[in-house]
Amino acid sequence: MSTLLLKDADVVVAMDPLGTTIPGGGIYIRDNIIEQVGPTQDLPEVADEIIDATGLALVPGLINTHHHFFQSLFRAIPGAQDCGLFDWLRRLVPLYSEVDAEAIRIASLTAMAELLLSGCTTTSDHQYIFSNNTTLDTQIESASVIGLRLHATRGSMSLGESDGGLVGDNLVEDEDVVMADCVRLIERYHDPSPLAMVRIGLAPCTPFVVTKELMRESAALARTYPNVTLHTHVAETRDEIDYCHRRFGQRPARYMEEVGWLGPDVWWAHAVHMNDAELAMLAETGTGIAHCPSSNMRLGSGVCRVRDMLDAGVNVGIGVDGSASNDTGHLLAEARAAVLLQRVRHGAQSLGVEAGLRLATVGGASVLGRLNELGSLEAGKAADVIGIDLHTVAMAGGAVHDPVAALLLCSVDRVDLSIINGRQVIRDGRLLTIDVEALVSKHNDIARKLVSRHSGRS
Ligand code: ZN
Repeated sequence: MSTLLLKDADVVVAMDPLGTTIPGGGIYIRDNIIEQVGPTQDLPEVADEIIDATGLALVPGLINTHHHFFQSLFRAIPGAQDCGLFDWLRRLVPLYSEVDAEAIRIASLTAMAELLLSGCTTTSDHQYIFSNNTTLDTQIESASVIGLRLHATRGSMSLGESDGGLVGDNLVEDEDVVMADCVRLIERYHDPSPLAMVRIGLAPCTPFVVTKELMRESAALARTYPNVTLHTHVAETRDEIDYCHRRFGQRPARYMEEVGWLGPDVWWAHAVHMNDAELAMLAETGTGIAHCPSSNMRLGSGVCRVRDMLDAGVNVGIGVDGSASNDTGHLLAEARAAVLLQRVRHGAQSLGVEAGLRLATVGGASVLGRLNELGSLEAGKAADVIGIDLHTVAMAGGAVHDPVAALLLCSVDRVDLSIINGRQVIRDGRLLTIDVEALVSKHNDIARKLVSRHSGRS
């Protein structure tokens, strides 16, 4: 048993239901749990380790609800920089078939390093490429090495072009293989207990690259285990709405209802094109949404109705999405983008800065079904805390007026401190669990080789 005291922070931003902020505050941690939050003078003076948090804002670790780690290999790819979703997929999917286990390992560590440095302490990953004998074990093992809390979701594609699907036949899997692997992953890695570092979700890539039976069977399988969740992309673009109408005669959200993919154990990425009745359906069922503003802007997909969702009572979190459609995986910047994009549609008062921070903390926790454990700095919750330096060039003249607003409105290059499940992962802005420089070098080598091999150049 060990104790850790963080003391004398410029401000503690608890993100609790009351929106408590504590100037000169601190946090007392026992093992992996927050025991006490308050003014430093009210906390125990003695601990196994004491960190002086002077100059920092202490904030709950941020939660990322949508990502594809492997895509960090395919940032800024020529030919996919200025495309909408379907053309973007046509350019990228052939490259995806080139990735092997080592490429996924290095890409996953790179994506997670970027998330960590931008304040993320819990992330989901959605992996749907299983060519070259790759498995989801790689992401799970990599998260354990780097120290990030992970919701690993097992994607799938079983309908190739010859079945009227959207991807090449060489990337699809047999549905029996998919289901058997889902069972294997749950049995091997899924931890249903509170404060779990690894949970498994089942996640066909989109509802339209697998059969209706697989959607139903995935939901049935997930619901035989406690806390196994369901995740997929839904209603991302107008093209998708049209495609769904042509193929199934209904809108994507109604298709999801038909296959049983609604409930507090389900969250959808994007949900850009939703009508009022569909928003009410999400709220009534507790179905969550991963809002990915930069990806939606990059692909020209549209503006998600986040304001309307919140008003309707829908659980909404933030997702950076994969780096092939959002070339940055900076979670705090993504929360900023969410606020600004909503204002483009609904005006300057539509989403405030605290609401933006809530999306990235308690919002994400509610989407992942973990609001009792994660998302705020409260006694009894997981010891997931980040520290942000309020005295940088980018914060100058901002943090002095309103440090909480400055966290979102000003830019944060990287967090100074990150503690995840009680373990120090970042100190003084440096990632302690991995050599970032060597990682980036390996990552670039692999990215260069993958793309040049595919384009026929050596
Ligand atoms: Zn995605």
